[in-house]
Amino acid sequence: MDDRRPNINIIDFARPSILKLKPYASAKDEFKDFDNDLIFLDANENPYENGLNRYPDPNQTKLKNVISEIKGIPLQNILLGNGSDEILDMVFRVFCEPLKDNVIISIPTFGMYKVLADINNVTCKKVLLTTDFQLDVENILSTIDENTKIILLCSPNNPTGNLMAKEDVLKLLLLPVLVVIDEAYIDFSDAKSWLNEIGNYNNLIVTQTLSKAFGLAGIRLGICYASDKIIELLHKIKMPYNVSILTQIKATKSLEEVVNIQNEIDLIIRNKSNLYKELLKIDLVNKIYDSDTNFLLVKVDNANIRYAQLLEKGVVVRNRTNEPLCEDCLRITVGTEQDNENLIKALRSLN
Ligand SMILES: *Cc1c(COP(=O)(O)O)cnc(C)c1O
Repeated sequence: MDDRRPNINIIDFARPSILKLKPYASAKDEFKDFDNDLIFLDANENPYENGLNRYPDPNQTKLKNVISEIKGIPLQNILLGNGSDEILDMVFRVFCEPLKDNVIISIPTFGMYKVLADINNVTCKKVLLTTDFQLDVENILSTIDENTKIILLCSPNNPTGNLMAKEDVLKLLLLPVLVVIDEAYIDFSDAKSWLNEIGNYNNLIVTQTLSKAFGLAGIRLGICYASDKIIELLHKIKMPYNVSILTQIKATKSLEEVVNIQNEIDLIIRNKSNLYKELLKIDLVNKIYDSDTNFLLVKVDNANIRYAQLLEKGVVVRNRTNEPLCEDCLRITVGTEQDNENLIKALRSLN
């Protein structure tokens, strides 16, 4: 056996109540082989066809097959959700016993992790990133206790925009805890996704989404990649029809036309580098952090004032000044060429 593999028994990690749970068997589950000759009188649907009168495929087989082929990951290592938010919530519900277990996050990061911990009544331990926004591995190690179930990482990280160093992530993967890597922004980065490592680490969970690079935030599709055992457990608690027919159709189509998406991603990355150059010329901008995402974290002279002034001029950015290590920082999404030009014009007019 590859000695890099941690010996965590996933079953020991799951909540006992989830292990005992008998999942809901939907009408659609019992007839997996769609046969057009069958007459379906089993799900109390309206029988008159309009394209959406039937419940969606609970296993999203067609869409998952496309994802499996594009990513080179077997079907049994993929789970789809109503956005990655739903997937992360499912991970909490499968593995974290409320009022007992805890998770560790490295701040500043995506605010949803803390909210999900709170919703699930699970303690969220916060470890500060280093001043260059990297993982403080020593501090994480000393924060872990016997009730720590998950270390949640975001790479590239929101709002700092950077990737987490590979060697640090590897150290965490050797620990007897689950490591979730949220890769919402990975399509904007040249870095390799961690999803290719799920075969090497049975404690690794990678989440991706169509909400950012794919331009489909409105359809809500999150993707989870993990070992067979983890996917099996998540599947037990998955709501039967969590991904709608409309979402399955739109996502399948978009993934089949992945070349068009790549052109748009390339354009956004070019626009980002132009925006970066233009922002640098503006006096009130003190620093712009490197970004592997579609946003820039920009340190200004006074974030509260500049945020309000931009709003008055009709430009909405995200004020991150109250986040640790982000004093006077605005998080600015890369827009269209016109959006970016308008932002620069607005900034130039401020005094
Ligand atoms: C935007 C974002 C997501 C997206 O979540 P969805 O529910 O898939 O839309 C996830 N994680 C991070 C860090 C994000 O910034």
